[in-house]
Amino acid sequence: MSLDRIELHTHLEGSVTPGRLILLSEKYGQPNLPAACLTADGTQYQFDGFLGFLDLYKNATTVMREPSDFHAMALDLGRQLAADNVGYAEVSVSYVVMLMRELDPLPVQRALHEAASEVAETLGVQMRWLPDAVRQMDEKWAWQAWEKAATAGRDLGVVGFGLGGDEAKGPARKFSKLFAEVKSEGFGISIHAGELPSMGPRASASIREAVEECGADRIGHGLAAATDPLLLATLAAREIFVELCPGSNLLTRGVKSFADFPLEAFLEAGVPCGLNTDDRTMFDLTLNREYEQAGELLGLSDEVAKAMQKAATKAAFCDLSL
Ligand SMILES: [Zn+2]
Repeated sequence: MSLDRIELHTHLEGSVTPGRLILLSEKYGQPNLPAACLTADGTQYQFDGFLGFLDLYKNATTVMREPSDFHAMALDLGRQLAADNVGYAEVSVSYVVMLMRELDPLPVQRALHEAASEVAETLGVQMRWLPDAVRQMDEKWAWQAWEKAATAGRDLGVVGFGLGGDEAKGPARKFSKLFAEVKSEGFGISIHAGELPSMGPRASASIREAVEECGADRIGHGLAAATDPLLLATLAAREIFVELCPGSNLLTRGVKSFADFPLEAFLEAGVPCGLNTDDRTMFDLTLNREYEQAGELLGLSDEVAKAMQKAATKAAFCDLSL
């Protein structure tokens, strides 16, 4: 099996399989949770729009409480990645959510690192970790999360630090000092920004802020940049990699159809970019399917798809040149 794909934007919690969610719900005595999150047959997630998705995420994470839960989820994800031909993935994991639930991220990170070693050995898939903070929460949580991430460090597979959450409610700028520290410690920075074009001009301003004030090396989504030629030129000139997630944007209503996804705008402007699933199981997506659809509906050629994967290799927070 070929493992030639790279994925830089995928969330551990959003990749929890329906079967695992049911097991965890049983473990923690929450029998009503699967019905709130899954379709009647229990095989797929259901939600309504971006805010509905954030609610689903919040509900699902209530049954992720022990390092062993995360270990099992990481093994599940490793299997999904292998089946999807992904040989290297940087996986976001929400330390802030753990901290708010009084779960120490350090033992969790040890469990994730152990799972990643097992996955590397048995499946040949390399997984690295991007702990992240939540925009709309008080900065104190982000600082605690970063402190834990820095302590775990590269020894436990941490290669960068990220920021996600509800863009409309939390500007990235309030984390600028924190990201200056992330950078000075030699970790990569990936910030979700410009995910919701419905925010109007504030959406592309959010991308600028992530780049100018937080020193983002990579932008998660960046969809709003597509209609802002100056911003596209800046991203291209500074070689800021954009982690595009078309299937995810479709499901959270950032675009009306896959065919409307503005891939061409990024490619024409010379912005380094690649496709990603974002939340594999919650969105029921695979990277293979994303590239296939981009080929069928957006005219992405095999050659350009290869160039995008090469750009992803370069943008990884690990040296993958060997
Ligand atoms: Zn994401």
